[in-house]
Amino acid sequence: MSIDTAAAFDVTDYLRKQMMPHFLCPGCGHGMALRALLWAIHDLEIDKDALAVVSGIGCAGRLSAYIDANTFHVTHGRPIAYATGLALARPDLHVVVITGDGDCLAIGGNHLIHACRRNLKLTCLMLNNEVYGMTGGQVSPTTSQSRLTTTTPLGNAEPHFDACALATAAGAGFVGREVTRHVPKLKELIKAGLRHEGFAFIEILSDCTEIFGRKNEMGSSPEMMMRQKSELRPSAYRDTVDTPFRANDLPTGILARNDRPEYGAAYRSAAAAARNGAR
Ligand code: SF4
Repeated sequence: MSIDTAAAFDVTDYLRKQMMPHFLCPGCGHGMALRALLWAIHDLEIDKDALAVVSGIGCAGRLSAYIDANTFHVTHGRPIAYATGLALARPDLHVVVITGDGDCLAIGGNHLIHACRRNLKLTCLMLNNEVYGMTGGQVSPTTSQSRLTTTTPLGNAEPHFDACALATAAGAGFVGREVTRHVPKLKELIKAGLRHEGFAFIEILSDCTEIFGRKNEMGSSPEMMMRQKSELRPSAYRDTVDTPFRANDLPTGILARNDRPEYGAAYRSAAAAARNGAR
């Protein structure tokens, strides 16, 4: 369905009103990530009929149900696999994956690295809140060391994945990271990912206020958002931060980009050549 994209952005134009109220806890960062995605869709004037959103299981995975477009809520860890088939069959669509850190890096970890290597045009948004929120707050591959979760009551002893470094090393054509605190910057990053002719991986640092924040005594939702910003500052400016659990100064914005051939176009070209007897 077309909407007036010249009009000011109104997020309700892109939501399924019959699905309201949504299930997100008050202050959850995932709502801000969803807003940034829909704002980017509006800015790029992408018709809702030309948008397909595929999501897995978890609080992030639930977001596709609220988007008034073509949406698929699929099995745990598999949204990239479903989206791959869809994008190959329907290259006319903008195919977006919404996934969480557990969905994407644990159960779906193999799908991610091979999607990066393959470079099929997909936009993958990984909402990283450092925990399995929906299933009760278990440790995930991105939980910072020392953090408390229901399965690490003494503090997480494992190092966390740097998802962007992983995607870059696996060959993703576009890699970016942003925090939910900066919705306009996040929106611009998502727009750049949607424009990219290849696999675009975007890590969104989001907050699980109700499970992770409460367990680690991180304060209210606004306090957690302030922490997103302060923890990304260079170490020299960290003197006001009580406990910088994230060990490194995580950069944001576009972190890696290359324009190597997109898989779908290469596959269709090979198929056309075979049909014409060239192979
Ligand atoms: S459990 Fe955490 S991630 Fe899930 S909706 Fe609540 S605050 Fe958000």
